[in-house]
Amino acid sequence: MNSISKEQILKWLETTAHVLEENKDYLTELDAAIGDADHGINMNRGFQKVKQQLTSLGDLDIATILKTVSMTLISATGGASGPLYGTFFLRASMAVKGKSQLDSQDAIALLQAGLDGVVQRGKAKLGDKTMVDALTPAVNNFKAAIFANNDLLEGLKQAVNGAEEGMKSTIPLVAKKGRASYLGDRSVGHQDPGATSSYLLLKSLLESVL
Ligand code: ADP
Ligand code: MG
Repeated sequence: MNSISKEQILKWLETTAHVLEENKDYLTELDAAIGDADHGINMNRGFQKVKQQLTSLGDLDIATILKTVSMTLISATGGASGPLYGTFFLRASMAVKGKSQLDSQDAIALLQAGLDGVVQRGKAKLGDKTMVDALTPAVNNFKAAIFANNDLLEGLKQAVNGAEEGMKSTIPLVAKKGRASYLGDRSVGHQDPGATSSYLLLKSLLESVL
């Protein structure tokens, strides 16, 4: 596979909305353990709003679609995660301006810009027990796989593997950012909700291009 189409991007957003709805209670339970029990509710609210808009987005280009998603997530999601995912999609949008489909280099630019935006906005470092711990190995694996064989599907599979490992790697960590950091050592032993939603977001992307 050597490109991602606009239709696949729209499918990604629809799949994400579906997957987040299915995982709403799971994400909220994870947040109940180390936060305020709203991450699933927040993410589902944001992406259901995105889903409602999908039919009206069909005529727009990829960058404008992603920018609209960003605005919707910022206004509808709430919590710390709303502005962070909003920033992810805003930067992603800026990275693919004018593209009618995404080749492997465009896809790298999109994911890297999204991650960089989250890091700049939230100031979390790797190992702080946040979504950055899932997104970083995902983007690194993606770049390495594309460099090795330039196949987007293989790249996305490796990205999802990286996100899953990164998500699980948050379990033994002490949270250093966000609400979970208020718990200090008591955050140990729990998987980070935002790292989990980031894994689901990337898994949805892979499913949407299969
Ligand atoms: P809130 O914490 O405001 O209730 P959510 O529950 O929706 O918001 O989201 C919590 C998730 O947001 C955390 O699990 C973590 O992954 C992520 N998060 C919080 N603060 C930061 C940050 N500064 N940088 C990156 N991610 C963060
Ligand atoms: Mg919360």
